[in-house]
Amino acid sequence: MELSKAEMYQAILEKDTSFEGLFFTAVKTIGIFCKPSCPARKPKIENVEFLFSSKDCLLKGYRPCKVCKPLEPVKSMPLEIRKLLKEMVSNPDLKINDRGLPIKSRLKCWETQWLSVQWPVPMG
Ligand SMILES: [Zn+2]
Repeated sequence: MELSKAEMYQAILEKDTSFEGLFFTAVKTIGIFCKPSCPARKPKIENVEFLFSSKDCLLKGYRPCKVCKPLEPVKSMPLEIRKLLKEMVSNPDLKINDRGLPIKSRLKCWETQWLSVQWPVPMG
């Protein structure tokens, strides 16, 4: 499942840092692109274009926002993934794969997507 435009717009309104790295908010009226968590004033939804890589934003002629610096690496990670990593560290025998362990099934679709974007190495 992919994030819908409404879900992404809601994430930027809430400045939700857990969406960082999943998509960028490009503002058509000012030609700037931001991280989902950018603290700057939010544009109207009709003036926003959601893009999935900073490269796409740059290729479309958008400049990186000076406030949220979308070209800098993502620092935060979703809470469920932090918990998952903690469980993996405390239990090295734990195997996680795409067939799905209970832990992985707790992740929401976008969190699994976050993991594959941020951490493209195969697990398990
Ligand atoms: Zn910004």
